[in-house]
Order: sequence, then C-alpha cells, then structure tokens
Amino acid sequence: MSNPAFTTLSLHPSLLSNLDTLGYTKMTPIQAKALPLILEGKDVIGQGKTGSGKTAAFGLGVLSNLKVKRFRVQSLVLCPTRELADQVAKEIRTLGRAIHNIKVLTLCGGMPMGPQIGSLEHGAHILVGTPGRILDHLDRGRIDLSELNTLVLDEADRMLDMGFQDALDAIISHAPAQRQTLLFSATYPTEIKKVAEAIMDKPEMVKVESTHDHSSIKQYFYQLDSKEQRDDALETLLLQHQPESSVVFCNTKKEVQHVADELHARGFSVIDLHGDLEQRERDQALVQFANKSVSILVATDVAARGLDVDNLDAVFNFELSRDPEIHVHRIGRTGRAGSKGIACSFFSEKEMYKVAQIDEYMDMPIEPSALPEMPTTAPYSSAMTTIQIDGGKKQKLRPGDILGALTSEGGIQGDQVGKMHMFPIRAYVAVNKNVAKKALKKLQNGKMKGRQFRARIL
Ligand code: AMP
Repeated sequence: MSNPAFTTLSLHPSLLSNLDTLGYTKMTPIQAKALPLILEGKDVIGQGKTGSGKTAAFGLGVLSNLKVKRFRVQSLVLCPTRELADQVAKEIRTLGRAIHNIKVLTLCGGMPMGPQIGSLEHGAHILVGTPGRILDHLDRGRIDLSELNTLVLDEADRMLDMGFQDALDAIISHAPAQRQTLLFSATYPTEIKKVAEAIMDKPEMVKVESTHDHSSIKQYFYQLDSKEQRDDALETLLLQHQPESSVVFCNTKKEVQHVADELHARGFSVIDLHGDLEQRERDQALVQFANKSVSILVATDVAARGLDVDNLDAVFNFELSRDPEIHVHRIGRTGRAGSKGIACSFFSEKEMYKVAQIDEYMDMPIEPSALPEMPTTAPYSSAMTTIQIDGGKKQKLRPGDILGALTSEGGIQGDQVGKMHMFPIRAYVAVNKNVAKKALKKLQNGKMKGRQFRARIL
C-alpha cells in the first residue's frame, strides 16, 4: 500500500507548498503513522531509525506548534550528539524556510560558550542541542522554558546509553507540565519505557519496521574463543576483502583501543573513536574517515552514532552487541543504495545464545563460517591524505578558496582534490596522497581571502 500524500494532513499551506518544492510528496511510513497524532497534539513515541524520515515527522510537529510572532523558546529538541543536532537543526530550517523569521539555535557541548551565550541573548524559537550543554545554560538562567510547547527527545536510547539520564531529568524539571512531548528511539528497552512513563502524557506508540533491505548484506559469523584468534581473524578478513571504508565495532573503550593498536601495528590505516575524545579529535577522526584518508574506523556503538557515513563496504563486529537490534543497526551501515555489503561477526562459545537471538530477530538461519587462510596481500592503502588548514568559516574561508589555492598555477589537478570539511576555525581537505606535499606547499605559500594560513598534513 502506498503512503498518503502530505496534503491529507492539516498542515499550514506554506509548510505544504514547501514540502512540495523539497520533493517530499508522499509520507514515509513513520510520518504516515505519527504525523496525524502529532498534529492532534498527542504525545507520541516513535520507534524508527535514521533514514525513516523521523526528523521531518517531529520537525513538522514543532513547526505547526510555533507562533512565530511570539519570540520565545517554544520547542526544545534534545539529541545525543552534535552531529545529529546539526542535522536536525538543518532539517527543521529547511522544512520551515517558507515561514519568515524562524530562529533555530543549536547548543551543543564541545563548542565554545561565548557565541552560544550571545545567540541566546538574541533569542530563539527552537533550540536543538545536547543535554549537558542545554542544562548548563538552563542552570545559569540563560534559557527560559516557561513558554515551551513542544519537547522532543531524539534517539532517546542513545542519550540514555551515553549517561544523559540525570541531565534529561533536570532539563525536564525546568519545562512546563503542559506541553507536547515526542520521543523517538531506534530501540525500546525498559529504560526508555520508564522515561516515557515519567515524562509523557498518555503517549501513542508508533512503530515502523526497518526499511533497510538486509538482503544486500552478506553476513558471516566466526566462532573465535580467544582475543588473539580475533586479532588474526580481523587481519585475515581485512586482507581478504580489502574494504575502502569499514567500521570495526567493539563494546568497550578498552577493546577499541586494543583493536586499533593491534591493526596499526599490523600496518593498517586505522583510527579509533570513543566517548572520551575531545570534540576536535572527534571531528578530525570523522573527517579523515569520511574523506577516505583512513579506511578503518574502530568504534563503540555510542561513538559511532551520528557518524555520517553509512555506505560502508564492510562492518566487523569484533564483539557481538548486547542485543540483536543493535546488531541490525551496526550491519545496516553497509550494503546501502543497492551496493553489496558484508558484515563479519565474531562470537565465542559462550555467546552462542546471542547468535541464536540474532537468527531469531532477523528471521535468518545463521551458519558459522570457517576462516579463510591469511592472504599474503598487503593491507589496503588509502589513496587520500588530509591537510588541516588553520582557518575556517570565521575567517570566511570557503571550499572554493581552498580549491582555488590548490589548483592555481603550478598546483595540483582538480580531480586530485577530495572532500572538504569546514569548521569555525579550521578546514580539512583531502588530496591524493602522491601530491600531498605539493598541495601543502600551495596552501602554505599561497593566499586565500588575501592572507596566508598555516596548514599541515595530518
Ligand atoms: P531522517 O530519518 O529524518 O534522518 O530522514 C532521512 C532523509 O529522508 C532525510 O534526508 C530527509 O530529508 C528525507 N525525507 C524525509 N521525509 C521525506 C519524505 N516524505 N519524502 C522524501 N524524503 C524525505
């Protein structure tokens, strides 16, 4: 059955015509189920993951509740990571672009306080942010939630995984009791149920099945009882499959460190991501992975959340996840957009029951595989290298300036330049490894926006 059109909803005409220009004609399944309830003002629990269209579902709810002339904070969207908060704010701005003068502000941890304080003084209608930082501003009296009409918890399961429970409770104690609360979560464990019971009013539950077609993912399971066996197996499989981009999932930070050290020692291009990194280190790691300077990312589930890369060639579960839903999320990052992906999972004899759970959850018989012989090939070598430039949006630096400096007379070719990522005071550009030195010289010696910037190869 095809989904209904947005025009069947009682949405403001300017929102409707904008949806049309965005090419959103039909609702996604989660939107079709959740939006009628949301627009009636009900509290809604939505179970759906990134890619389901959940942001537009709650975003249209937030925008429908908004009185633009009333320049007060009317909506608060809480997200587990800055990456997600940025994506959500962007989507809300896009959805609301036909309504004049909507102010959406992002407030996330790991970002400088000064600009956030300044922006808050100017006021906003919609706040999107991470719990710790939002609470900080609330405690210092910089945010007034007395006119809040809509509270959204996005990826609530992740927020709890990341230890934000206390911050959430404290934030909600600042919010008026009379409000609409929307909670989105990919999984629905008991902890989330408890939160929902505590903060929501007769919530309606809507659930959509994962839209990802797992038939494009080839899964392999290997029984390996010692850590050494797993290290060797990972090397074997990486050499066999030679993925350009892959993620290795571990359950703890300690294991992430171990795997990253081990792969590094064995000559692989690897970077690790865990919850303790400073924002700058995290940005750098994500940039190097996204622009293909580094081919393997080792991460915990929490750290990989918000990772804006889902067309991986392979996913490795160095350790099986705690529950089968998380397993499905992990492997869902490969095999996207019609391409084939592989997912290799290691388990011990004691974890047979977990394999059985996955088997049942995915309704897919699992046969453990035998490991191939260790190939004699060399590890995959990334074609790109990242150059960091000590200047960014604040210095009005744009990708075009960087491309111009790199390719100006005597420089490198345009097709030797890869992805660029712009941050407030830094920019990163990927270039072909074999022209990296030349590219660096061009950036250091040339001028951008009329001045020289420091640059270095990461
Ligand atoms: P999300 O699950 O919120 O991350 O959304 C996934 C993607 O789908 C985003 O890029 C949205 O812009 C897009 N999207 C959301 N709703 C629709 C729709 N009804 N029709 C087409 N695209 C949509």
